[in-house]
This record gives sequence, C-alpha cells and structure tokens, in this order.
Amino acid sequence: MSAFNALKMGESQVFTSAKSLQSRLDSESNNSTVGFLPTMGALHHGHLELVKQALQENTHVVVSIFVNPTQFNKAEDLESYPRDLEADLKLLNSVGDVIVFAPSVEEVYPEDYQNLSIDLGALGTSMEGEFRPGHFAGVMNVVNRLFDIVQPTRAYFGIKDVQQVAVVQYMVDQVQSPVEIVPSAIVREPSGLASSSRNYRLNEDQLNEALIIIDTLHFARGIARQLSPQETKVKAIEFFKNGSLEIEYFEIVHPRTLEFITEWVPGARACIVGYCGEVRLLDNLELIPSNK
Ligand code: AMP
Repeated sequence: MSAFNALKMGESQVFTSAKSLQSRLDSESNNSTVGFLPTMGALHHGHLELVKQALQENTHVVVSIFVNPTQFNKAEDLESYPRDLEADLKLLNSVGDVIVFAPSVEEVYPEDYQNLSIDLGALGTSMEGEFRPGHFAGVMNVVNRLFDIVQPTRAYFGIKDVQQVAVVQYMVDQVQSPVEIVPSAIVREPSGLASSSRNYRLNEDQLNEALIIIDTLHFARGIARQLSPQETKVKAIEFFKNGSLEIEYFEIVHPRTLEFITEWVPGARACIVGYCGEVRLLDNLELIPSNK
C-alpha cells in the first residue's frame, strides 16, 4: 500500500476509496487533464480502444470498474454479470498507465446519498428506456456520482450504447456539469459483431448466429433512402427473421434526439436489440451519412 492507499498491480494504480483517488488526482499540476472511462469491468478490446483514445487526449486517465446495481432491472442479470478485476487490470496494463477506481457499492452510494432525479422525457421511455425500466435512472445516478468523485475533464462513452450517450449528455446539460462528453466509435470483432462483455456468454455457433444483427443493419443501410424509414424498418425486421435470434426492437432514430423518424435526416441511425438464447445483444449503425 502506498501513501495513497493504492494497490500497485503492473502499471495500474488501483483505488477503492473516493478519498484516496482524489488525493492521487489532487497531487497533479493545474495543467493536468483527466480523461475518464466509466465501465462495469469484464473489459474487452472495445473498452481498450476508448482507453487508448483517452490516453492520447489527456495527461491522466481514470477507468472505473463498478458493477452498478441500480441500473439492472433484473436481479439475475446483476448476479451473473462477469467480474474479474485481475483480468481487467492485465488488459489495462497492456495499453498504458491508467488509474483504476474500483469502489464498493457503499463507497459509491453512502447512507447520505441524495438520489438525482431528472425527467428524460421521450429519451427515457423509448428503446432501452421501454425495455429496461429504471435503467437510465441508475445510469444517470452512477455517472453523476462518479463525475463528482473523479472530476474529469472529459468522459468517454461508446456509441454502441447510443441512447446512453444521449442520456448522459442530457444529464450533464441539466446539472450544468463542466465535463465534456466524448462519444467514441463502435469497436467490432473482425466478424462485424460489436465487441461486448456479453459475447463471452456465446458459444461458437451463437457467435455466428449473432451476425444476423450486423447483417440486418447493413441490409437496412442498403435499402435506406429508396424506402421510407417505416418501410425500411418493416423490411429489416423481415430480414432479421431469416436468422435464429429473437427481435426485441428495431428502430430508426434521429441522431441527436433519438426520436423515431418518419423522414430521412443526415445521421439517421438504426438501433437494434436481439436475443441470442438468453443473451441480449445491442447494436446500431448510421444509415444516412451525417453532415459532419
Ligand atoms: P460497460 O462496461 O459495458 O458499461 O461499457 C463501458 C463503456 O464502454 C460504455 O461507454 C460503452 O458504450 C463502451 N463500450 C462497450 N463496448 C463497446 C464497443 N464495442 N465499442 C465502443 N464502446 C464500447
């Protein structure tokens, strides 16, 4: 244990208390910048790409590893979420010097914790909001609390969870937080499957069957513009049914508001969730190039 109560494993310094992490960060000069990546662990190369980006853009990078109980709407999902801190640290050490924050539930939510409640409107009730009630309330609370502890300059969120990015940006605007939210590109396996901790639960056959998700997104991109968004949705769902997965939703949304669209706009995105056996897989793809 160092003066900062940190456990040194490889190059990562691991802090479990908010106080010790803050002392470590306070010891840096005023010119330092902190890039922050909140995760639930079970890291894979999708997370590592975000860490690499953060390392390039900041003098310091903090990665939190915290399986947030308040964002799970099913107790069994929380129970079965993979946890392996040692493996996570090994991966983080392979990309550079990272400060790791791995707090307990009590550290994140002390007894006097004040719940943050923000009405997300339609953003909170469509897609993930509809199928995972309470999920975004949990996400907003944990992100806001972690921002309070880490006080990052920038925070990195994967566009894989595009609705989460929009929710976090909305929350930051509402609480007037100075943190810059950086949306980061979706990282995929060579097969095209979006990298995810949940992929660890798929066997070889299922990894192949799951490709219907990205195939459907590509199919939708191929027919977009020739058809209306509504017709594209119908055809894409028909296409998806050629595979063996169960559809939960397929929606075509506005890139910023994530409202369902009836006319094409630049950056229009298709969002999909399908079940491969018990495993819930989520992905999205831009159908119409954005103006950027
Ligand atoms: P998680 O640990 O699953 O909560 O993810 C932590 C962060 O990594 C979130 O901002 C995710 O959107 C992001 N992330 C997870 N998988 C990917 C991926 N395949 N590509 C880009 N970002 C990802």
